[in-house]
Amino acid sequence: MGVITLEKLPYAENALEPIISAKTISFHYGKHHAGYVATLNKLIAGTPFEGLVLEEIVKRSEKEGVAAIFNNAAQVWNHTFYWKSLAPEGGGGTPEGAFAEAVARDFGDCGAVVKALADAAVKRFGSGWAWLVAERGKLSVISTPNAETPLTRPGITPLLTLDVWEHAYYLDWQNRRADYAAAALGLVNWTFASAAYNKTR
Ligand code: MN
Repeated sequence: MGVITLEKLPYAENALEPIISAKTISFHYGKHHAGYVATLNKLIAGTPFEGLVLEEIVKRSEKEGVAAIFNNAAQVWNHTFYWKSLAPEGGGGTPEGAFAEAVARDFGDCGAVVKALADAAVKRFGSGWAWLVAERGKLSVISTPNAETPLTRPGITPLLTLDVWEHAYYLDWQNRRADYAAAALGLVNWTFASAAYNKTR
């Protein structure tokens, strides 16, 4: 009861090769992501956070300034969202419905969305995340430092994310964050972003 679980990867550990290797995912999912889950469960045991759903833990711990719980809870949520933001080559579909219209209106095309995400990924100093978000239907790209997440921002809906912590790319790309971002963003799951956006309409 009240235990936060590690959500299953939506594909095999080698499904994003050669851009993201099975070795990277085995550490990133199996050690980092799983580690945040384990630490979070230890931290919330016996506190008022125990028994809340993950999204509530993220929001309440940020509001109440409980940094250790927030950092681990947000990292659990961000990583689950990251895995879903990517798809094996050729499996990411295309923007659908109202989301397709929003992409055309706010960016022109998918290539411009990818370019903005790559730019945000490269400009984020240190560890963090690049995001495509919607606010009152309008699309924009932002980045957050460390564990921070747009999930807690009122009126903002996260649609896609790219992890730009070094652990996301160092084994495969070493220091070349820009190359990782450009390649990984070729694996964007537009079907996932469409569903997230179209739910807000
Ligand atoms: Mn990560």
